[in-house]
Amino acid sequence: MKIILIGPPGAGKGTQAKRLEEKYKIVQLSTGDMLRAEVAAGSELGTQAKAIMEKGGLVPDDLIIGMISGRIDQADCANGFILDGFPRTVPQAEALDDMFQAKGMELDGVIEVVVDDDAMVARITGRFTCAKCGAGYHDTFQRPRQEGVCDNCGGSEFTRRADDNEQTVRERLKAYHDQTAPITGYYGQRGLLKTVDGMASIDEVTKQLTDILG
Ligand code: ADP
Ligand code: AMP
Repeated sequence: MKIILIGPPGAGKGTQAKRLEEKYKIVQLSTGDMLRAEVAAGSELGTQAKAIMEKGGLVPDDLIIGMISGRIDQADCANGFILDGFPRTVPQAEALDDMFQAKGMELDGVIEVVVDDDAMVARITGRFTCAKCGAGYHDTFQRPRQEGVCDNCGGSEFTRRADDNEQTVRERLKAYHDQTAPITGYYGQRGLLKTVDGMASIDEVTKQLTDILG
């Protein structure tokens, strides 16, 4: 199964992708996570991306396309994957089509997580992650069962993203509407696009997704 999740920052793509990974035995491919790993490693790509990410802009298409093309060839992708945060521009969507054709792969579907922008600032500024296993939480909407302890791995260290501040979120929302939202038309025309209500509870969104995916 090869699917794309589309939605603005804070829509819940990462949260849902982690659940779909388990249910369908496929891997989440988050270009944001991949870029943060490059930044942390101090690679050339990370160095080029860092300042752009801090401001909430989009990293150039050619860098992203090269990064994802190599990633989907890896063995853990053989059973399928969920693209989270990619494609983010029409040229990226076109490049993905070319990539799939060249690799003999087929896209099963594209799901847009539809949310109100107004709610996204609170979602993003309250987000935190387990430093050990990457499980995602929220100060209000998804607290660990035991305060300060990760539900998933028992870890007790948590991190917040440098770009998860109000000003950058507004830039990221603008980038989404200007550059990413047009790809819903690109896939819609081909009958590949479905939507879920991302303002529903986390469990309800999972249900809507699994109803679509079977
Ligand atoms: P994205 O990957 O789309 O940027 P996340 O999955 O990281 O978004 O979700 C952003 C924040 O909102 C996280 O802290 C998460 O716990 C919380 N969240 C995700 N989905 C929902 C939801 N349906 N209702 C309330 N909070 C949510
Ligand atoms: P995300 O983790 O998806 O919120 O992405 C964090 C940041 O990484 C974005 O604000 C962009 O700067 C960059 N980024 C992630 N994915 C892409 C992409 N497909 N194209 C361009 N920039 C990206």
